[in-house]
Amino acid sequence: MDYFPLFFDLQGQRVLVVGAGAVALRKVQLLARAHAAIVVVAPVIAPELVQLASTGAIEVRVREFAAEDLDGARLVIVATSRRALNRWIACLCEARGIPVNVVDDRKASRVIVPAIIDRDPVIVAVSSAGTSPVLARRLRERLEALIPGRIGLWASWLAGMRATVRRRIPSPAARRRYFEMLVDGPAERRFVDGDERGARRIAQRLMGSLSPAPAGQVTLVGAGPGDPELLTLKALRALQDADVILYDRLVPAAVLDYARRDAERIGVGKAAGGSGVSQDAINDLLIEHARRGRRVVRLKGGDPLIFGRGGEELQALVRAGIAFSVVPGVSAANGCAAYAGIPLTHRDHAHSVVFVTGHGEEAGGQPDWALLAQPKTTAVFYMGLARLGHIVARLIENGAPAERPAALIAQGTTAQQQVVLATLTTIHAEATVRRIESPALLVVGEVAALHSALAWFGESAAADAETQSA
Ligand code: SAH
Repeated sequence: MDYFPLFFDLQGQRVLVVGAGAVALRKVQLLARAHAAIVVVAPVIAPELVQLASTGAIEVRVREFAAEDLDGARLVIVATSRRALNRWIACLCEARGIPVNVVDDRKASRVIVPAIIDRDPVIVAVSSAGTSPVLARRLRERLEALIPGRIGLWASWLAGMRATVRRRIPSPAARRRYFEMLVDGPAERRFVDGDERGARRIAQRLMGSLSPAPAGQVTLVGAGPGDPELLTLKALRALQDADVILYDRLVPAAVLDYARRDAERIGVGKAAGGSGVSQDAINDLLIEHARRGRRVVRLKGGDPLIFGRGGEELQALVRAGIAFSVVPGVSAANGCAAYAGIPLTHRDHAHSVVFVTGHGEEAGGQPDWALLAQPKTTAVFYMGLARLGHIVARLIENGAPAERPAALIAQGTTAQQQVVLATLTTIHAEATVRRIESPALLVVGEVAALHSALAWFGESAAADAETQSA
């Protein structure tokens, strides 16, 4: 991070603005909204600023800047059209430790001013750290459309509720839950739509119905295969409500970033082969945290109920009498196939798709190899990379033609995605040559070959575009 974001309480604090043109005027108007004690210094002053000075709202000094203007300033904004002068003033500020912003000169600035969405007292600030003001402005516009106009009034209204709520609901955790119900539920919608009385009614009703000691609960959440944007809206909500998150090794770091900032994060990563925290220990942790009344999110890569031992965790919760819910996720098979341009079923090529674990035999079971080897079937192997040779041999033994297409997709849906398209005979050697590493998914079936025509994501798509334009 190049800049530390913060909001500055400038009420009654002296802010010096050097320069008095149109840019300075805009800054002064914004500073005035923060009730700063504004001093403007410039040899020529824009009429609007003269007007403001005549009402006593700001002080103007009609002359060139002098070093003593910095005395007592908590913040300095430099907006003259003379670059050398701007930089000299910035140096003086630096020497005195006064935060300085030079308009349109990020290098000379100690602080920069973000693009804002103003729903006072709610302010959303956007910055690209100067890398792309256009992007920051566009983002601001999108957020502007997304954030209701009355959200600021709503924030003030909620602040007005604080004292009553503190009296009526002594537990801080229960209070947070109460406010979450207001903000997430119909009360906010009512208020934002202009129905303040309706919102108040709902708020009062909710207060009466609140249970004193909220019971803990566990939400099993699918994090998707890699691309954080494949998270569902429900998963996002669960992450933002969680008190504690127990996550697996396969969960992308970018997904964890969506969690509430002060949620406790516990990595319980299990590498293939089972090192790491044991399943029993994970079950115990889930139960223990839920019993302490916390909202627990159990975050798993892909879908939580596909090869993730989610079912076992739910059974343990049932035995312990703990409430739970499940948020499905995009499983690796769905995500990787989509991002590799491989339709898992296709009227001409596959009428069924089977998800199978490449570990099956170690876990005691034998997959139905004859079924997997059948024509017009797509077989998707999770955790199959380490036993690729074995899988290929069993399929061929059971009647799959040696030239049946097979694709390996590694780190699917991420910027590092690699796709290897081969046949049953050649896939193992190809994977070795291309140094494919886990996590990788093996797709066997005629549909795999469609990758060459339908690839759209990453490497292969770029290569196609190049050949087309060549
Ligand atoms: N619950 C998960 C699967 C867990 S098993 C899901 O629904 O996706 C772990 C296996 O999933 C890995 O060994 C690999 O075969 C597959 N996998 C998970 N993420 C993957 C990714 N981004 N790319 C390729 N394979 C992936």
